[in-house]
Amino acid sequence: MDHPQCDHVRAALLQALTNSHQPAQTPALAQHIAHCSACQDLRASVFQQLLPSKALPADPCALCQLDLAAYVDMNLDAGTHTAALAYPQVWWHLWTCRDCAKIFAQTAALAGAERAGVLTSIPVARVTPTNPRHVIGRLSVAPQVVARFIQSRALLGVAYGDETPMVLDDGEDNIHSFQLSVQRGGGGTWQVLVSVVPPVAGVAVITVGQTTYHVPFDAQGFARVADMPSALLLAGESAIAVAIEAV
Ligand SMILES: [Zn+2]
Ligand SMILES: [Zn+2]
Repeated sequence: MDHPQCDHVRAALLQALTNSHQPAQTPALAQHIAHCSACQDLRASVFQQLLPSKALPADPCALCQLDLAAYVDMNLDAGTHTAALAYPQVWWHLWTCRDCAKIFAQTAALAGAERAGVLTSIPVARVTPTNPRHVIGRLSVAPQVVARFIQSRALLGVAYGDETPMVLDDGEDNIHSFQLSVQRGGGGTWQVLVSVVPPVAGVAVITVGQTTYHVPFDAQGFARVADMPSALLLAGESAIAVAIEAV
């Protein structure tokens, strides 16, 4: 749905009046609505159905991002309708801001993967030690992206909530989807998290600058490097490269 038409927008907007738990907003929808006055009018009328006595929200990104993580969790756990009532300014803003909608989609994808990993018992492929490991996926982030991201998160951290993992790259093959995310830890450190859905038996080979970590995936499909120093991520040449190796 790269160029959604008004029908797609209408269907997504009306999700706020249903029990759907699917994340409704996408960057593509936001791009359309930002330039379509008919869809903007529809957004306003759905908002008035949701909260008849409330004025239309203000629209700055900061106001949206303040509660974005909480909105994602509520959207996935309690549904779009409940989330829209609790955080109307977030629901409102995500319909027209491509940047915030992108953060929302990434955050929701990771949160959804975490829930899928925790809540379902997907069988892990049996370990057969005689088989060599083979790479089933690769993820990477350019060094300047990593540095800019860490710096902006340091600035935004207080307002945004330190515990929110942020997706830096994702990918998929025919069977699996992969994500690379980082999350701020204590004492100037970061946690680097690689996830595979459905889980596989294998390791994530995570290279940051000159340093390489070999981290086994757990039964939920997560491999973590806790306590990675900020200085390592901020060093100018520190690209992050991940190879996902299954046995
Ligand atoms: Zn439209
Ligand atoms: Zn925004």
